[in-house]
Amino acid sequence: MTSNKEEGRGDTVHIATYGCQMNRRDSEIISSMLVGAGYRIVDSAEEARVIVFNTCCVRENAEERVYGRLGQLKSFKELRPGTILAVGGCMAQKDGAAVLKRAPWTDLVFGVHALYALPDLLEKVRAGQGPLVSVPEHPRPMVSQSGFCRREPGVRAWISVMEGCNNFCAYCVVPHVRGPERSKPPELVIEEVRSAVADGYKEVFLLGQNVNSYGADLAPRTGFPKLLELVNEVDGVGRIRFTTSHPKDFSPELVDTIASLDHVCEHVHLPLQAGADRVLESMNRGYTLDEYVSRIEMLRSKVPGVGLTTDIIAGFPGETESDFQRTVCALETIRYDGAYIFKYSTRPGTAASRLDRAVPHETVVRRHAELLELQKTISKEKIGAAVGKEDEVLVEEVSRRDSGLVKGHTRDYRVAVLEGDDSLIGKAIPVRIVGVDKFTLQAEPLQCSAVLTAGS
Ligand code: SAH
Ligand code: SF4
Repeated sequence: MTSNKEEGRGDTVHIATYGCQMNRRDSEIISSMLVGAGYRIVDSAEEARVIVFNTCCVRENAEERVYGRLGQLKSFKELRPGTILAVGGCMAQKDGAAVLKRAPWTDLVFGVHALYALPDLLEKVRAGQGPLVSVPEHPRPMVSQSGFCRREPGVRAWISVMEGCNNFCAYCVVPHVRGPERSKPPELVIEEVRSAVADGYKEVFLLGQNVNSYGADLAPRTGFPKLLELVNEVDGVGRIRFTTSHPKDFSPELVDTIASLDHVCEHVHLPLQAGADRVLESMNRGYTLDEYVSRIEMLRSKVPGVGLTTDIIAGFPGETESDFQRTVCALETIRYDGAYIFKYSTRPGTAASRLDRAVPHETVVRRHAELLELQKTISKEKIGAAVGKEDEVLVEEVSRRDSGLVKGHTRDYRVAVLEGDDSLIGKAIPVRIVGVDKFTLQAEPLQCSAVLTAGS
C-alpha cells in the first residue's frame, strides 16, 4: 500500500461503486489506499478532482449504466480540465483498452488484478503519462486486508474470504474476469475479523463467489465449516453471515455448522437459477432440481425458520415454455423468502454466448415479469406469517430522518423497523413482530410488547 502523503496532496476523490458486495469491499480498499496516499474522499463526482469507477459486468445493463455515466462526464471534464477519470473493476478487466475507445476521455483503466497498484497508476497519470491501461491477467494476491481499515460506516463489515471462481456456469462472466478460486488463509481471515470487531463492527459478512468450496486450494485444507467455527470463536464477534453458497457444494456438514454455531445467522442465499434439469445442465450448474430440493429440506429440518433466498435467470438460451413452467413450479413449492430474478443477458466469451436458440426478447421480458409477480406474492405471504413471532433485530441505521424509527435486520435477514433513535445503532434487540408494511417488518422491543400484553 502506498502511504506517501505527498502523492494525493489533499486532492479530492470520489468513488462510484457498481455491482456486488465484493465490489463494495474493493471500494473500501480503494478508499483506504487513496486516503493513505493523501487524498480526501468526497461524496459527489462534481466536487472531485479524481473520479474512480469500480464497475460490474455481470449483465449488460450493469455495463450500460457505467458507459452512460462515463458519457455524462465527457462535458464535465471539458469544463474542468485536470479532472482524472479512472475506470476499474470487472468491466475494466473485461474491456481493457476498449474502454478508451468508447470513452476516450478516460485517463486510467485498471482491471481487478491491478487494484493494489491504483495509487501508483494515478501518480503516473498525474505526471502526464496517461491515458494508461493496466489489466494484468495474473490474479491479484490474497493479502490480509486488515490494513485497509476504511470500511463503510455502520454495523456490517464485509470480509472477503476467497476470490475468483472455478465453476464456469455457462452464462457467467465472473470466472473470466475474476480468475480462478483463491482462498484467503484462515489466519488472515481471523486477523481481519478481529480488526473489524475491534473497530466496533457488530456483524461480519464473509464473501466469496462460492464460499462452499473455500479452502480447496489451501494446504492444510481448511473447509468453510471449519472457517465458520474459527470466526465464531473470535472474542467479541457479533453476527456472522456469508454469501454465496453454491448448491452443488452445499454440504450436510455446513448445515450442521449453521445449526450449531450461535453467532452464525439463520439465512442462506442459495441460487437455483432455473427449475428444469435440462436447463440446469446446459447452464453447467452441477445439480438437478431434486438434489437442490433435498439440500433445502435438510437445511430447513435442521435450522427451523431459516431465511432462504435465491437467484433466478429467465430466458436462458433454449428455455422452452415447459422448462419455464418448471421454474414457476419450483418457486411455488420451495417458497423462498426472497428472490433476485434476472433477465438472461448474453456475456461475450461465455459458453452460453455460443449457444443458439436464443429466447425472443419479448418472451424473456414476459417470463421475467411473471416470476417477479409470483415471488412478490410468495414473499408477502411469508413475511405476513412472521407477525406475532419473537425475533431479534440488529439495529443498523435511523430509518428515515425524523421518522422516530430505526432499521435493521432480523437474524434470518428480513428488514425490520422499530421505534428508537441512533443510540440503538449496533444493539441487537429482542423484539416481537407486530405488523408488516410492504416488505418491512414492524417490531416492538420485547419488554414493551410484554408490558402491553400484560396490561391488555
Ligand atoms: N457467485 C454467485 C453470484 C454470481 S453473479 C453465485 O454463483 O451465485 C449473481 C447472479 O447474477 C447469479 O446468481 C445469476 O443469477 C446472475 N447472473 C450471472 N450472469 C448472468 C447473465 N449472464 N444473465 C443474467 N443473470 C446473470
Ligand atoms: Fe458465476 Fe457460477 Fe461462479 Fe457464481 S458459481 S460466479 S454464477 S460461474
